[in-house]
Amino acid sequence: MNSISFSDSNPEEYMAQENAKDWLSSATVHDHLRETLRMVKDMALLDIVPARLPVRLYPGGGVICLLDPAVLLRVTEHVGYGFNIVCGAKSDELLSDGQSCPVCSSFFASQAMYLRIRWLIPCQIYAATHGDDWRWFKNAEFSGMKWLDIDHNLLRKLIDCTYLDEGLRLVRQADWGWTMERDPKIRGWSERDLRWLRRNLPAPGIRLPTEATTTEAIKVAEANCHHSPERGRTAKVLGWFPKGTVLVPCHFASKKPCVYWKTLWTEKEFAEYGTERADRGNLAVRMGSAAIRSFDWDSDEMFREFVRINDWAQRAQQTFGSRGGNVWCRMMLPASQEHCWTLERDDGHGTVKQVGEFRAGDCLTTVSGAHPSGVLYRIRNAGSLPLVATKDVGLPEGVRLHKKPVRKVSVYNDTPGEIRLDLSKIDGLHDHPTDPGSLEGRCPVCKREGKDTSCDNLKIWPSGAFHCIRDCDTGEIFALAGLRRGWRRKSKKGTARGGATDGSSNDH
Ligand SMILES: [Zn+2]
Ligand SMILES: [Zn+2]
Repeated sequence: MNSISFSDSNPEEYMAQENAKDWLSSATVHDHLRETLRMVKDMALLDIVPARLPVRLYPGGGVICLLDPAVLLRVTEHVGYGFNIVCGAKSDELLSDGQSCPVCSSFFASQAMYLRIRWLIPCQIYAATHGDDWRWFKNAEFSGMKWLDIDHNLLRKLIDCTYLDEGLRLVRQADWGWTMERDPKIRGWSERDLRWLRRNLPAPGIRLPTEATTTEAIKVAEANCHHSPERGRTAKVLGWFPKGTVLVPCHFASKKPCVYWKTLWTEKEFAEYGTERADRGNLAVRMGSAAIRSFDWDSDEMFREFVRINDWAQRAQQTFGSRGGNVWCRMMLPASQEHCWTLERDDGHGTVKQVGEFRAGDCLTTVSGAHPSGVLYRIRNAGSLPLVATKDVGLPEGVRLHKKPVRKVSVYNDTPGEIRLDLSKIDGLHDHPTDPGSLEGRCPVCKREGKDTSCDNLKIWPSGAFHCIRDCDTGEIFALAGLRRGWRRKSKKGTARGGATDGSSNDH
């Protein structure tokens, strides 16, 4: 029989075909997964992040579950400089498009980024840790399977396990190791159950990279590979700016910040981050700090025109990346105007084009380091930041300010399922009483005000998303208890993380 498409099949015929599939064979399940992964790929092109993310267990966390080891996905990622690029070549065959991986093909990029290998395994969860106890979920036997994120250590244990088709009690230890025991309360799946579960297996919740993202990651990684940090650069840059200026460390040759800077990131946090560490990457200035603003022009032509018509701009600090340039100044503005504005130009025939940005606040301007294109940033009139009034600013013919539409910026945009809160900073953390897999604890913002003593305002979903029932500002919660760094590099000295020996290990 020929394969049919949806258009020439009727629903009954389609259902009959689905029912005829042998869901006990892994080939069928793999076909199903291949199809869902194709969808994930299309979603990535539209910049849609998968909604359901794999369950990840953190120290102290545990589940009682049944696993489906026949369906095990290996996910290998190139990680670094704010990127996680799934490597098709080194991942499960299902994730491969048959082409060679562009990151692997670049000698320097593959050296500069490290490989993170993890496995995703379908899992039905019956209970999860709850303080020192276990909380059993009602009707768990009727729920579907979730993907569980596991590492090499657990995988090895699973391979040696003789009771894999029975209930397992998995607990993540304080040193990120695992304990595994048999749980006699759970019976294995019947063939009927397994068929049903596999048929309803959700997409694995992986974010697949687009071609553009991969290309950018390679560029940045290569630039970092060839880059040797200039000692004392940060101190020099700090000298250009008045007191109160807030610097933000970014990845070298990238506009991606290394830290979460949107809230509660001040001079003090930057000092704690350390100038030596900041020397290694790009440096950006938080616009609005010390009333610093910048006019960013996309083309050399517009930049020249702006400088020509503004006397103050000729003397002001100017920075140059690849094309166009930035003119810096200080300007007093009401808080309501401290954001990033678009500079638009009407060519007189009704065509409106963006030609630059007026960066008045809530955004960054790079001042030192390398542009993603590899060019080093150049500076002219370093340290000259004239105080100008809005009336002193002349815009080139046809150019006007336009308020940028407020886009909801997600705090966590790289790794799906990664809890970006430092759970050790949440008081009274326990399993969510009604939502299996989620956590609950004291909201750090509420805590600052002496509230939430019952430690039940903050909810943390398995995806890493969190919310305070008093609607505390997400950015503030994150700033107080989040992992500001994008990811944590595994210490080369050993695998122990979160141990008491190295108090600073959290932040490296
Ligand atoms: Zn690769
Ligand atoms: Zn709160």
